[in-house]
Amino acid sequence: MIEASLTDDERAVLEYVKEFAQKEVKPLARDIDRKKEVPRKLIDRMAELGLFSSTIPKKYGGSGLSFSFFVRVMEELSKACASTALVLDGAITLFADPVNRFGSESLKQRYLTRVAKGEVGGLAITEPGAGSDAASIRTTARKEGDNYIINGDKIFISNGRIARFFVVDAVTAPEKKHRGISTFVVDADTPGFSISRDIEKLGIRGSSTVELEFHDVAVPETNLLGKENEGFHVIMETLDTGRIGIAAQAIGIAEAAFSEAMDYIKQRKQFGTEISNFEGVQFMIADMATRIDASKLLTYKAAEMFDLGENAVKISSEAKLYASDMAMKVTTDCLQLFGGYGYTTDMDAERHMRDAKITQIYEGTNQIQRIIIAREALK
Ligand SMILES: Cc1cc2nc3c(=O)[nH]c(=O)nc-3n(C[C@H](O)[C@H](O)[C@H](O)COP(=O)(O)OP(=O)(O)OC[C@H]3O[C@@H](n4cnc5c(N)ncnc54)[C@H](O)[C@@H]3O)c2cc1C
Repeated sequence: MIEASLTDDERAVLEYVKEFAQKEVKPLARDIDRKKEVPRKLIDRMAELGLFSSTIPKKYGGSGLSFSFFVRVMEELSKACASTALVLDGAITLFADPVNRFGSESLKQRYLTRVAKGEVGGLAITEPGAGSDAASIRTTARKEGDNYIINGDKIFISNGRIARFFVVDAVTAPEKKHRGISTFVVDADTPGFSISRDIEKLGIRGSSTVELEFHDVAVPETNLLGKENEGFHVIMETLDTGRIGIAAQAIGIAEAAFSEAMDYIKQRKQFGTEISNFEGVQFMIADMATRIDASKLLTYKAAEMFDLGENAVKISSEAKLYASDMAMKVTTDCLQLFGGYGYTTDMDAERHMRDAKITQIYEGTNQIQRIIIAREALK
């Protein structure tokens, strides 16, 4: 469907990404969920195939491909394994993208070249007391000589155990509220930086989610991302694009559930015929197919607008809101089509439903997306 916004080269590369996802990632997905870990070998393989370097500019060792291409990669990987897709998404949309947009030349040279080779990054903004209200963070960064000294806690940080570096926000001028927040690139091996706990989850279990502690973490002032006290803007712009990646993740999860359910209902017989012959089932199929296609149109359009440098704030929230609600509905209905078998761990339907749920929550809950969309619409 609609590959028009991709170049011929991107279309060709996407074909081998599809093959890689189905042949090398999908067979591992159940194990990744059970063992709660994406194997390093698989991450290395993604790097070898150029997935980490795809959207990074050529001068930093990347291929300079479009965000529209990246969104299709996210969709294809999520069809195979949503946790594996999130490893890449965290490295690219949550780390490399803000470094590329707001980092100094030397930060880009230092970090983007490493992401391009498959080193993983992450974004640490959420705190125990500051989730949807991202401006209420309490982590502080105090200037001392040529360094900032960071103290505080961050929670629910994806790629926590595997990331080598994070974009982190902290308060630099408390009296200025959201205009007193700055963002930094922090190496995970900096003294005082530690993981205080791993967080067990309902879905995307292969993705490492942790709580982080910063105890007098000294970060050179050259690691400031953007200007001092302008970090809130860095975070908001990062999430505007990140949400398109999450919309793509939701679409991939829904497509996987849908395709498995279609195979099943065409062979499962009750009342002497395949259950796909029942009108009640066919109406479910029609609604699911329509919602998946509508999500794709919104998400691809959002990515295209981002590539063209247009304002994509409203459409990226719309894409994330619509696609994630769709994924929850579609995965729930697909499980229903498997009957009792869908409720068991013998089938992937239950994993898809568990994985879909997070897309309604992270990078801004869907309540927050509605606030953004309404605010933009009322402008
Ligand atoms: C698996 C996982 C991975 C994550 N990865 C990362 C990561 O890599 N980096 C990172 O920084 N964070 C990450 N997060 C955090 C995530 O972005 C937050 O959980 C999310 O933004 C919601 O914040 P909260 O959990 O504190 O909920 P709260 O903000 O406490 O919200 C609770 C409920 O209240 C609703 N609510 C809040 N305010 C309003 C309002 N004004 N109007 C209407 N309803 C409202 C919310 O929609 C929600 O339903 C992750 C979370 C999870 C679970």
